[in-house]
Amino acid sequence: MSSSNSSKNNRTKGHKQKWYKDGLRFECQRCGSCCRGEPGVVWMSKKETKNTSMSLGISTDLFTKDYVRLINGRISLLEHDNGDCVMYDKGCKIYETRPSQCKTFPFWNSNLGNRSEWEEQKKTCPGIGKGKLHTVEEIINRLEPELSDL
Ligand code: SF4
Ligand code: SF4
Repeated sequence: MSSSNSSKNNRTKGHKQKWYKDGLRFECQRCGSCCRGEPGVVWMSKKETKNTSMSLGISTDLFTKDYVRLINGRISLLEHDNGDCVMYDKGCKIYETRPSQCKTFPFWNSNLGNRSEWEEQKKTCPGIGKGKLHTVEEIINRLEPELSDL
C-alpha cells in the first residue's frame, strides 16, 4: 500500500462516527460576507501566490509587493482599511485561484466540531444548508487536507 493510500485511510478512519456522516449541504451564494468587513487573515501558500499572480497577469514579485503581507513568516492577503479583502470587488477577483482557506470554507475543523458549530456559521454564511450535498468522504479527503499544504 502506498503512503498516500495509507494517509487517506487514516483520515477516513472513523468517518462513520462523524456527526456529519450523512454529508453536509453547502453551496456558495457569492454574497461576499466572508470576504468583507471583519479584519482577519487569508493565508496563501507560495504556490498559490504564483498561480494567482499568473491569473492576474502580473509577476509574483509585484503581486507579493502589492497584495500580501507576512505574518510570522506566513503569507496573508492584505485588507482594505474597512476590513474587506484586497481581492474583493463586488465578488472575488481571483475566484478560480482563490486560496485553499477560501476554497475550503466553511468546511474548516473549527466549524465541524459538532452540529452547533456548523449551525452557528449559518448566521454569517447563507450557503450553509443549501445546494450540493458534500459527502463525509469528500469533506475529509478533499477539503480538510488542502489546508495542511499551507
Ligand atoms: S459567506 Fe458563504 S455564501 Fe457568502 S460568499 Fe462566503 S462562502 Fe459564499
Ligand atoms: S481571496 Fe477572494 S474568496 Fe478569499 S477572502 Fe479574498 S475575496 Fe474572498
